Amino acid sequence: MNTKEYYQEIAKKLEFDTDPFINGKFVKGGGPAFDSINPANGKVIATLSSNTVEEVYEAEKAAREAFDDKRWRGLAPAERKEILFNLADLLMEHREELAVMETLDAGKPITDNYEDDVPEAADTFRFQAEAIDKLEDAVTAGDPDHLSLVVREPLGVVGAITPWNFPLGEAVIKAAPALAAGNSVVLKPSSLTPFTTLRLAKLASEAGMPDGVFNVVLGSGDTIGDAMGKHPEMEGLTFTGSTDVGKKLLIQAGETNAKRIFLEMGGKSPFIIMPDVKDLDHAAEEAIGAAYWNMGENCTANSRIMVHKDIKDKFTEVFLEKVAEMTTGDPLDPDNDMGALIEKSHMEKVLRYIETGKKEGAEILCGGGQILKETGGNFIEPTVFDGLTQDMTIARDEIFGPVTGLMTFESEEEAIKIANDTRYGLQATLFTDDLSTAHRMSRELRAGNVSVNCYSEGDLGTPFGGYKQSGFFGRENSVWALRQYMELKTIWIEL
Ligand code: NAP
Repeated sequence: MNTKEYYQEIAKKLEFDTDPFINGKFVKGGGPAFDSINPANGKVIATLSSNTVEEVYEAEKAAREAFDDKRWRGLAPAERKEILFNLADLLMEHREELAVMETLDAGKPITDNYEDDVPEAADTFRFQAEAIDKLEDAVTAGDPDHLSLVVREPLGVVGAITPWNFPLGEAVIKAAPALAAGNSVVLKPSSLTPFTTLRLAKLASEAGMPDGVFNVVLGSGDTIGDAMGKHPEMEGLTFTGSTDVGKKLLIQAGETNAKRIFLEMGGKSPFIIMPDVKDLDHAAEEAIGAAYWNMGENCTANSRIMVHKDIKDKFTEVFLEKVAEMTTGDPLDPDNDMGALIEKSHMEKVLRYIETGKKEGAEILCGGGQILKETGGNFIEPTVFDGLTQDMTIARDEIFGPVTGLMTFESEEEAIKIANDTRYGLQATLFTDDLSTAHRMSRELRAGNVSVNCYSEGDLGTPFGGYKQSGFFGRENSVWALRQYMELKTIWIEL
């Protein structure tokens, strides 16, 4: 494993791209300049230029020209595949640099970025690239005088708006299937974390992607994201972020051109432990990842740990021992499990939730405050509440920080009722030693992803997305994601 000093040396030599990437090159934007801040020390990493609304339209125009003249969608799937494979290779060649860049920009632990996020980004391109020359279209069973073909075609220009919690991963999970399907893409990363997305665009160009096919615009959600939502011609818009913004984009799509819209939004996921579970140590280990992975800045963070009353005391003891072993601090130090929260205002919001939890009657078992203030960074200790009840704010709202709460139930029916009592439905975790219970309860949980006896979001081959207000009309990953970036066409020929 590399050391903190090793990563610090890479950090010193990093160069940051600071302008939007449009039509194959970095072009200074005409909008207001903005700073990207390192969440671990509060210092400015670099100042970037943002776009104007008119420049978003220019980016769309460049993407549309690329679409219309078929420089990308007109390539044989095997040719697109080769370019996307080149890009995957380049991501791995730049693995250390990208991992460090992400850590500096997003406060995420270096080990997560190096071991998971960057390789997974490369694998996502490989998966989607590999799929495109395997899909088959259909000839339906028509009458003898007609030939009926059902074929898929790319949507056209696809907008993508991504959040700050997994900046590279979220850009790739959208760009890879959209590009593999033959679309042109205009992507807006969160202004809090633009750097790895800009580097991705540059690497895509180096990999052989034609100009105009993959564009990155910069600027705030309120102006640039809003302009994408209202764009009258983009055929698709894929978004990951908060439920409130997602719903607004849905309205804008309806008010403009009925663009195809795919929304991945918030969550409030339960972690249920049934009384038959013998290996509570394993359950507690998984609960740590479920609650604190990425500092809890995770749409599938399990911030409601629901334990059957008969095993609650035993589980709590084991869980708290594991929480005590967690280390929080400089995210460039591979020894730290948790880094910094994305920005000061977000940290303050999480701290307010902790205060609300106390006021509403939940008891703090550990954590509960900001630490390492002297660093200038946004660090909060892993926090565990006891006595959580469904009426409490912290049991209903998405906290998006390292805060979880323990609650009890007495029967399977009650567990399902509590778990489903939320406007969200992204993910649920279930621990049981009984196969029938696992199947029965998995069917009753109203969530797009249910993991049994582990905490997981699945892999690249499984669709990821949410029920209820966690998602709308779309899934990430797998061939389902690839297909959603294509229209279906029926061709009916008289013979
Ligand atoms: P957010 O505030 O909704 O922002 C997400 C993206 O939307 C950012 O690029 C943001 O731009 C942009 N945006 C903000 N306001 C906009 C507007 N009015 N019109 C168009 N775009 C706008 O969410 P976030 O705080 O970045 O991310 C956290 C949320 O994402 C959580 O709710 C989390 O659960 C969710 N999330 C869901 C998934 C999933 O797969 N379901 C995965 C990850 C995160 P700026 O930041 O530049 O303003």
